[in-house]
Order: sequence, then structure tokens, then C-alpha cells
Amino acid sequence: MPELPEVETVCEAIKENIKSRDILKFNIFNPNLRWKIDKKINNNISNNHIDKIYRRGKYIILSFIHGSLLIHLGMTGVIKLLNNNNNKASKHDHFDIVFKNGNVLRYNDIRKFGSVHWAKDLKKHFLTKDLGVEPLSKDFNYKYLYKISKQKNVSIKNLIMDQKILTGVGNIYASESLYLSKIHPNKKSNQLTKKNHHELILSIKKVLKKAIKSGGTSLKDFKNIDGTPGYFKQKLLIYGKEYCQCGEKVKNIKINGRASFFCTLCQS
Ligand SMILES: [Zn+2]
Repeated sequence: MPELPEVETVCEAIKENIKSRDILKFNIFNPNLRWKIDKKINNNISNNHIDKIYRRGKYIILSFIHGSLLIHLGMTGVIKLLNNNNNKASKHDHFDIVFKNGNVLRYNDIRKFGSVHWAKDLKKHFLTKDLGVEPLSKDFNYKYLYKISKQKNVSIKNLIMDQKILTGVGNIYASESLYLSKIHPNKKSNQLTKKNHHELILSIKKVLKKAIKSGGTSLKDFKNIDGTPGYFKQKLLIYGKEYCQCGEKVKNIKINGRASFFCTLCQS
């Protein structure tokens, strides 16, 4: 499942590979995604210029003078960047953004959990209005985490994965960050020490930056313009591991229905 680093990688790849920012048209092949694709998107974006391409949480945002296009990759969304418009759509292709220079951004999604929406104002759109702070921004700091941790009495793993609190940290990076900061994933948020808070913030930022640098973890989510995978599997420390670096067998428990890997010796 694409997380923040993967989405960031995709945004960078779009910026690098799509040489035109002028859109010719929006073609729908199969409107059935998590929400049915609105036909009006074509009217909103065709013959318009993209001002900015960036990530907000796990959304790819193409921003225009009069609004934004929000793309979410869901579980299996893949963005293919094509040099020309001659490629026939294949089975799980859902839509194309065709640029005036012939470049094409194609969205493919086998499990159809992804989405694409037009938003006049991101602050009012139902998908983005409640998004929490960006983990890599200055807003994610000790003061913020301390206040939220005291208010909520939930396991710290659930807290850092709550998109309304912190946006873009998913299961893999939550596990990795908690391991690095030596905190048990089930520790209650209001039991965290000052040291825990500081180390957790640093670890989250560190883990995400490292993943962005290596291009995210998943090979499935993005293909380069020439069709080769854009991601390289990066080295994870605890997620999916059998043994911790200390030699102890890694525990895997379910927290909120999600696999949670941790070491009983290294994390408390
Ligand atoms: Zn250990």
C-alpha cells in the first residue's frame, strides 16, 4: 500500500517526466474506483495549466488557478507516465490525463480502492478538510504531539496512524518509527515520557526522509516513463522481520486490525 514516501516519489516523478503542464483532456476508461469518477473533471481540467504538483498526506495534488485535482492511489493504484497517446488502455486502466505535448499520465488500479476528485477548495473538500499535520513539517513538533497524546488515551501506534492527527504515516513507517524510538506500539499515548516524544518525532521524520531518498518501499505503485519500476525495496528494520537486530524473535500482534511488528526486548 502506498504511503507518504511512495506518494512523494510519484509526485517527484510526475514533475520530472511530464514536460508539459498544459492539459489537453481527461479520458475516462473505467469510472469505477472507490468513488465513481466524475465526468465533469474533463471540463475542470482540459485546456488548463497545472501550477503546482505536490503531496498532501497520501494525496497527489495537481493544483490549478481555480481548484485542485486530488489523486489517491488506494491499495494498488499505479501511475504510468507515457511519452505518447498511442498506447491502448489495458484492463485495469481507469483514466488518462493527456497533455498538449502528447505526454500521458495514466492511472491503473487492480483493486479499485483509489480515487480521483476535483476540489474547488482543499480546505473544504470532504477528503482533505480534516487532514492532520504533515509529519515532515515544523508543525509536527513536541508541543503538538504532547498535547494530542495527553488528550487521547489510545495506543501510540493508533495515534500516529490517525490521519486527522498526523497525515501520511501508515503501518510500515509507524512500526519502523516506534522501533527506532524504542517504544512499544501498544503503549498508551498519555504514558509517553518526554524522551519518548522527542525520539518518536525524530524517528518518524528520519524514517520518512530515508524512505523518500530510496524511493519508497513498494515496487508496484509506480512505473517510470519507460515502464521500469520507480521504487527500490528499502531496508526495513522491524516490519516483516523474523528476528530483531538484538537476536530476539520479532513479535507480530494485531493493533486496530493491522500487523504490528516489535521487539519485546528493545521496545517498552
Ligand atoms: Zn530487539
